[in-house]
This record gives sequence, structure tokens and C-alpha cells, in this order.
Amino acid sequence: PDPDLRPERQPEDADRALRPQSLDEFIGQAEARANLKVFIESARTRGQAMDHTLFHGPPGLGKTTLAQIVARELGVNFRMTSGPVLAKAGDLAAILTNLEARDVLFIDEIHRLNPVVEEVLYPALEDFELDLVIGEGPAARTVRIELQPFTLVGATTRMGLLTTPLRDRFGIPTRLQFYTVEELHSIVTRGARLLSVTTDEGGAREIARRARGTPRIAGRLLRRVVDFAVVEGGGRVTEDLAARSLTRLGVDEAGLDGADRRYLRLIAENYGGGPVGIETLSAALSESRDALEEVIEPYLLQQGFIQRTPRGRMLAQRAWRHLGLEAPKADGD
Ligand code: ADP
Repeated sequence: PDPDLRPERQPEDADRALRPQSLDEFIGQAEARANLKVFIESARTRGQAMDHTLFHGPPGLGKTTLAQIVARELGVNFRMTSGPVLAKAGDLAAILTNLEARDVLFIDEIHRLNPVVEEVLYPALEDFELDLVIGEGPAARTVRIELQPFTLVGATTRMGLLTTPLRDRFGIPTRLQFYTVEELHSIVTRGARLLSVTTDEGGAREIARRARGTPRIAGRLLRRVVDFAVVEGGGRVTEDLAARSLTRLGVDEAGLDGADRRYLRLIAENYGGGPVGIETLSAALSESRDALEEVIEPYLLQQGFIQRTPRGRMLAQRAWRHLGLEAPKADGD
């Protein structure tokens, strides 16, 4: 599959131009948005740091975007890092001691924090204090450093991998949902306007329908369809041009890409529709278990293509229909 169409973040995030800058510009996630509005307003009124906030949900749904918006609406600085980057306690200490009062520190992939770093984070979150060990052996001593009050915004695609003590320190846990076609339609229309391209109502809808419920994918599909429109469609994104371009890119009617179909077909053809364990699927597809659980499965589950059972993954009726295959008769029928 074209790696450009996968929802994971890529080094140079071309979506930056499409990022909404304020809560009012942010489309969808109505419940999260309404709540954040209150918490931001309250923190501003009281002149205090907002409570620590955790965004969780599949990649590309707007966690980073929301974190930036929170900082902007609070009128404070935004500092960004990620779990795997913070290798040593000192890395985190350097960032924390440089924060100004009420700043937002965003830690992406917070489930991948080194446990040693996580330990340092606890008192920082609770009391805005840092206990640093200086020196080694008998000469080692602990110094306590006072920090400015700040807001940690964590993001994770895997809520289940967060340790309980870390999870408990977030006053505002927020789950982001897949977007509806309506919402994605608005996002695509707005994106087209920002990219100065002409899209028909039907063209925007076709992209929205196939965007896998994910704004980042909607942005990427829009850019690719625009390429086809420029070269082959006189610059205009019509429904027909969008449909043909997306099919050529391997994105089918339901918005599934090659990796999704390979996953479904494997369970259908090699395991009679399941149940089959995640490790087996991971080995057979040469995809990491994390990639399957974070990227591929959430949308297939949400759309009712698969079910998770205690004995493994199973294809649902919709997947058989989608693959154009006959579901095997259950035993004893
Ligand atoms: P995450 O951090 O959850 O992986 P991002 O915040 O990086 O996702 O969002 C990916 C891209 O999708 C952003 O660059 C932005 O262009 C777009 N995007 C996300 N949410 C929205 C939204 N609600 N409205 C418009 N565009 C959005």
C-alpha cells in the first residue's frame, strides 16, 4: 500500500497547513470541544494552569492539533516532545525547568515513556516539584527543584498501555472518536479552500466517505486527488474524478486500503473467518502487533468488519460481503 495514505504521522507533516487554529475552527469531537471550552475558560478566569489532560484515540484524529489549540486559547507557550524521545530523567528535567507559568507541555506517545522518566514525572504533575538525584554512590544526594505550575497534555493511541498511576494523574481524560462522513465533508471542503482548489459537493463527499473516519487521511486523499485533477481533470475535483483517483490509489468504496483488505482476506481465506489470535495475524502479515492494534483494527472494529472475541479476531458479515466471499456455515447448522 502507498505509505503516504496510512494514518501514522510522517516526519514532515504536510498536514500542517490544514491545521485548525482555534476551538471554533476545529470540526467534530463536539463533546470534547464543549468540555475543553469550559476548562480553558475556567483556568483563564482563575489565572491558574489548566488540569493535566490526556487525549487518547487512533492516529490522525486531532490529538496534537487540540493540544496546540489548548495552549493558544490559554494564551501560553506550547512545548512538544514524545515518550520515546525522553530517554533519561535529565531530558525531562531540562524541559520542565524551562517551562513558564501555565505553559502547556505536550508529550506524544506518552505510553512509551521510560519508567525512570515516568517516576520523575509524578511529583512534577502533582506538586510541581522535581526530585533529582545528583552524583552516584555514597556521595549521591537528592535536590528538590520547584517548578512553575504547568499543564501536561498527553496523547496516546493505546490507553491500555498507560500505567495506572500515570493515568490517574490526568484530571481531564478525553477520548477522541472517528469522524462522521458529514464532519469529514466539512474538513475536506475547508481543506480544498485552503489549498485553493475547486471541489464539487460530490467530489468532497467521495473523499470524505473514503477517509477512514480520519482527518489526516482526508487531507492526504484530498492532496492526491488534487494531483489527478490538475493533470487529468482540468483542475476540478468532481465526484467521478475523486472516485476514479481513489480507486487507482487502492482506496476502495468503503475507504479500506490494501493493508486493511490483506488483513480481512487473510482471516477469510486462511482461517475460515476466525477466531484467530493477534500474534498469528501479525506473523502472517509481517506487520507489528502494535500497527495492527493501533492503526488497522480500530476502524475495522468501529465499522463492523471484525469482532474481537476472547479467542481472537473474527470476521463479521460485513467483511464477507465486502470481500465478495461466502461466509462458511456455522458448525451444526
Ligand atoms: P493526532 O495527533 O491525533 O495523530 P493530528 O492532530 O496530528 O492527529 O491531526 C492530523 C491532521 O489532521 C492535522 O494536521 C490536521 O490537518 C487534521 N485535523 C485533525 N483534526 C482536524 C479537525 N477537527 N478539523 C480539521 N482538520 C483536522
